[in-house]
Amino acid sequence: MFDITSVCRRSDLTLPVRIIFMGNYTGNDIYCDLIIPDKTGLRIVKETSTVLAFYHTKPHWPVHIVVIPKIHIVDLLELTNKNGLASELFDTVKEVAAMVKSQEGACRVLTNIGDYQKSKHLHFLIISGDATADNIV
Ligand SMILES: [Zn+2]
Repeated sequence: MFDITSVCRRSDLTLPVRIIFMGNYTGNDIYCDLIIPDKTGLRIVKETSTVLAFYHTKPHWPVHIVVIPKIHIVDLLELTNKNGLASELFDTVKEVAAMVKSQEGACRVLTNIGDYQKSKHLHFLIISGDATADNIV
């Protein structure tokens, strides 16, 4: 069995190959393990020094945008405004939600905690439209 993490971080991988590996990811923090170290191929909506917003690579809704802090924070309950992170994160969530609302007419903003949270890295979903697959968030 090869090391999927090191393979995914190779910059010479073509996007489809990388997306396939990401789809097979079996860890519990895809953001720290794969997304933040190598943003190759992501459709980035907004990026600051501390926050990243991007279109999900395997969307479950017609519009499925993920907003994450670039440092590891487990969930909303652990978020503080140290160094202004909470402010920047919520400003980005609001900005993306306003963009989706203007384009689609409506959106939902969602974050999971505890057993509902598959990836143990704080992430907000900005979604719009009917679910197209299992609501795995
Ligand atoms: Zn993390």
